[in-house]
Amino acid sequence: MINRERLAETFKSLAETDSISKEEGVFAGKIERILAAMGAETFVDNAGELIGGNTGNLIAKFKGNTPAPTLLLNAHMDTVEPGRGVAAMLENGTFTSDGTTILGADDKSAIAILLETLNVLHENDLPYGPLEIVLTVCEEIGLLGAKHLDLSLVTATYGFALDATDTEGIVTRAPSANHLEFIIHGKDAHAGAAPEKGINAIFLASKAIARLKLGRIDQETTCNIGIIEGGLATNIVPNLVTVKGEVRSHDEEKLHKITNEIVSSFKEVVENFEEARPEEGLPRIEVNIKKDFSRTYIPDDHPVVTLAFKAAENLGRKLATKTSGGGADANIFFEKGIFTGVLGTGMRDMHTVRESVKLDDMVLTAELLLEIIRLHSQTDAG
Ligand SMILES: [Zn+2]
Repeated sequence: MINRERLAETFKSLAETDSISKEEGVFAGKIERILAAMGAETFVDNAGELIGGNTGNLIAKFKGNTPAPTLLLNAHMDTVEPGRGVAAMLENGTFTSDGTTILGADDKSAIAILLETLNVLHENDLPYGPLEIVLTVCEEIGLLGAKHLDLSLVTATYGFALDATDTEGIVTRAPSANHLEFIIHGKDAHAGAAPEKGINAIFLASKAIARLKLGRIDQETTCNIGIIEGGLATNIVPNLVTVKGEVRSHDEEKLHKITNEIVSSFKEVVENFEEARPEEGLPRIEVNIKKDFSRTYIPDDHPVVTLAFKAAENLGRKLATKTSGGGADANIFFEKGIFTGVLGTGMRDMHTVRESVKLDDMVLTAELLLEIIRLHSQTDAG
């Protein structure tokens, strides 16, 4: 039932409409008109004003024609740079850009699949329950749209995001993550004439980092120091250095423990520095720990998983639950109480000029989604 040509055309047209993060307005307007023409009630929330973009998140509600619990369907509208003036080319069944920009299959392959699925539902008068389509802005710059989503516009408690590669997987697990920032204040001095007057902030930072265990801590925990910035010239003892890193774990306690160990290492090095100047309050450290996202864990017996598995089985296809590194809209939704499994669209090499997606893969996902919606329409509304 999926119309392959129409899906290809829709994807091309979406890919060729610019929607860089914070500049999704024109693109969002286009999708809103398409969804409204299909009979959806559409809303744009105020996330755009809150985050400095030119549109908010787009929410489209379909009443459906059978009573069932409301199902959330999600994708993000924004793309990364270089993503302006994309020319989407279909060759041998695979879409690519012309090599000078990204393609934007992340995540426009998802939006094209959603639109095609809705078209098929309507033109064949298929049974479906209430749907809430949530298309976010600014996913690529820190999940800002999802974080600022107006929850009063969303009633669904579960659903699906389309924002992964593997068409035979559903992501149901992701770790929590902490973002760490350490700012070490030392004291500047001429490195040749009077180095003893200085306190070298880079030296302190490197001592603290040298004591850490980085990388994979265990099967479910990782940590990294990713950015170090400081110093002005080779002849100046640096008075300031900023170190940034992260910790991720599927276990909240481990996340907490590793974060604390790193913080202690920095604090101890700075506080136990032999040549400290207590009268000047130096050296000194500022510690900023921010929760990036919380752990996502959708149990295997949750309707999101059972629906997707049953749908795949009905189509004679394989599906497996997957773990991601986190950092997707679905993780924010989970935090807000909406269990969101992430399905793949076939998109590959995202965020590069080699990005691609096979039309066949998009068709596969559209078929899976259609079957999920059909099965879900038979769910008791409770
Ligand atoms: Zn994406």
